[in-house]
Amino acid sequence: MASQDEVFKKLVAHCKEYGFVFPSSEIYDGLAAVYDYGQMGVELKNNIKKYWWDSMTLLHENVVGIDAAIFMHPTTWKASGHVDAFNDPLIDNKDSKKRYRADVLIEDYLAKYDEKIGKECDKAAKRFGENFDKEMYLKTNPRVLEYAKKRDDVHARFVKALEDNNLEELRQIIVDCEIVCPISGTKNWTEVRQFNLMFSTDMGSTADGATKIYLRPETAQGIFVNYLNVQKTGRMKIPFGICQIGKAFRNEIVARQFIFRMREFEQMEMQFFVRPGDEMKWFDYWKQFRLKWHKALGLGDEKYRFHDHDKLAHYANAATDIEFQMPFGFKEVEGIHSRTDFDLTSHEKYCGKNIKYFDPELNESYTPYVIETSIGVDRMFLSVLCSAYEEEQLEGGESRVVLHLPAVLAPVKVCIMPLVKKDGLPEKAREIMNDLKFDFRCAYDEKDSIGKRYRRQDAVGTPFCITVDHDTLNDGCVTIRHRDSMEQERVKIEELRGILSHAIDAKQLLKKLMD
Ligand code: ATP
Repeated sequence: MASQDEVFKKLVAHCKEYGFVFPSSEIYDGLAAVYDYGQMGVELKNNIKKYWWDSMTLLHENVVGIDAAIFMHPTTWKASGHVDAFNDPLIDNKDSKKRYRADVLIEDYLAKYDEKIGKECDKAAKRFGENFDKEMYLKTNPRVLEYAKKRDDVHARFVKALEDNNLEELRQIIVDCEIVCPISGTKNWTEVRQFNLMFSTDMGSTADGATKIYLRPETAQGIFVNYLNVQKTGRMKIPFGICQIGKAFRNEIVARQFIFRMREFEQMEMQFFVRPGDEMKWFDYWKQFRLKWHKALGLGDEKYRFHDHDKLAHYANAATDIEFQMPFGFKEVEGIHSRTDFDLTSHEKYCGKNIKYFDPELNESYTPYVIETSIGVDRMFLSVLCSAYEEEQLEGGESRVVLHLPAVLAPVKVCIMPLVKKDGLPEKAREIMNDLKFDFRCAYDEKDSIGKRYRRQDAVGTPFCITVDHDTLNDGCVTIRHRDSMEQERVKIEELRGILSHAIDAKQLLKKLMD
């Protein structure tokens, strides 16, 4: 069986071959960690964004959207703390000349102990069968206890080093744990240095004094600086939320794993403004709601987990990540943060204006607390593709590559195919397509054998294919073929809309979130 690594490589190649994702400016050999979405990719991405947007704004009458500019007044980033504190600790291996994030090297090291403990548990579960008591085993097995102690010791040092911003100690942990460079295999490390992740550019001509401005590293600040505009013009009452989808830019030190870590990416963020003291209640609400949103897609409940932050960002009093099981391990797809009143208080200080909210129920003004949900569109895209991609062995020694995409997200919903390119079948197929295309994204394909055409649609995740044959002209029926089961059924043309609507119903998906 192919390793996860090989499968991931194949997935990357598949994305390019079928028009999902291309390296940016590929004719010039690409630009590191920047990607373009192709004709299939953009549809999938738009469908993800629509699912998110609707789940926020349709299901919550107190959540509205905005679309703020990428460029913002430079003081924004001073106030938000990004100029001074949006850094990653970087370390270089002197032999391979490769650069790493020191914190990620240590996190990966810690994760290996969790894996080891997991493996011991699996072995024991097999050995003891039904009588296996996992909790007891974890508390008493000497080898597991030894692993757990080593992990906890390093973890405690790591958390303290991050809290103290102690770069020397971070390096020392890497040395003490004998962490080696995955490329050179050596422990020949440089010092750890801080590196600011913001891109900057100049606005205005240099002659009359250009201003240095930043490309936003998160969309959130566009919401903070507009929160009173929206509150007043929309007559919003606390609690209320503002959401936004847009590009963000980070000069990532180590950009690997395809679209998982990019230098230009897209975020879907929401800031939810609450009364001070109510923030934990709302933090829990959004944590649960966001997990439900992910699970409703049916990619597999076991592929998600919460991961609470070891080190809270300078603005947060609680934070958790929703992690997804990628082929390269459980990785963050979304962050949920309780940001306190840090951002608004800081903006108030820097702009010198009163930006407090007047609460008519309490008859007092205060700075709201904020719960943020922040998900990367590209990481979400990757998680959907990773779970959808399958190289399936079929009966008779054949195989196919299929994307089991949730039908709501699939770029193309249905492909209409005349069995042959003559006898009036193409005309009939076009007629059906012209009727369906206002409701569903349709493709039309008349080239090659039906088998080949099915494979092409499987490879881009089209949930349904409809074949028009000679009988269609007499009996008004077509063959509809289901992507996952490959089952075919004969149905009346008039029934098609109903069948497709039922299977591709965004409403049903959204309703699941209200249970
Ligand atoms: P990481 O620890 O992986 O760098 P982060 O904790 O800095 O991520 P946040 O600042 O919480 O990320 O950003 C919110 C979301 O934006 C992340 O959960 C992720 O989905 C997305 N995101 C952040 N950085 C990138 C990136 N470089 N490329 C793609 N998506 C990103």
